[in-house]
Amino acid sequence: MPKPRRRTPDPRNPRFIPGIYDYCDRWCERCEFSHRCAQFAMRSHDRPDDPRTRDIENRKFWETLGSSSLVAKPARKPKPGTAKKNAAGTPTIEAAAAHEKRLDRRARTLGQRETNAALTYSHMVDEWFNNELRLPLQHVRNLERRVEKGLTSVASAKGELVRLNDCVEVIRWYQAFIYVKLCRAFMSFVEEEEERTLAAPRDSSGSAKVALIAIERSLAAWVAMREMFPEETDSMIEILLHLDRLRRSVKRKFPRAKSFKRPGFDDKA
Ligand code: SF4
Repeated sequence: MPKPRRRTPDPRNPRFIPGIYDYCDRWCERCEFSHRCAQFAMRSHDRPDDPRTRDIENRKFWETLGSSSLVAKPARKPKPGTAKKNAAGTPTIEAAAAHEKRLDRRARTLGQRETNAALTYSHMVDEWFNNELRLPLQHVRNLERRVEKGLTSVASAKGELVRLNDCVEVIRWYQAFIYVKLCRAFMSFVEEEEERTLAAPRDSSGSAKVALIAIERSLAAWVAMREMFPEETDSMIEILLHLDRLRRSVKRKFPRAKSFKRPGFDDKA
């Protein structure tokens, strides 16, 4: 008997929190709000495993993308008077592109210090895992030995392994994410300056808040790793100091980030 077709989720359903996916960390597997997220519902709806149906699904994806405002951040209009207009009075493509380029340059200049630091952090993580991989491996072997000798219970060894795995996952997930979010925060900042939207809730603050959360969670994961490998802490201290400096710098540049309310996540009682 053919399986009954599941209904496509309706993004207007009140169970979904509008805009929750704008300020999340995209870690759906770990998200506590996936059941209230329209983007997650759309993505996981009827996901086919059969490659024959994949093309159809891909087409649907592009059609949905073309007609939906769910994914993309709307393009901002150039500030009045800053872009050349054509005969119909609308800005030309060249003028809009030049405007975008100018904003991009300004965003890069403003955020140079923080985005460079975020990029450096990402490289530091790769380097650490390349050079120090023996540490987690050794840790796992030691745990096995301790279980064999009866010095540690299986349950406690499993707990240790889960803790180690969680730390590595957190570090790896946010490794490049911090850089991406900071780029968006600075870009939004210059766009908002152009539009003079200083009083409204600002995308720059929201994006900076998400970057700060990612930095803080990464810091917590590195601290936990340091506790697991107390004999090898030098390389981790360097990373911790670097991340902490980045955190302080981002906080200074985006003083409103802390009070920004992310839909759903910051509405919790
Ligand atoms: S809000 Fe949660 S479920 Fe939705 S996209 Fe973000 S992480 Fe994924």
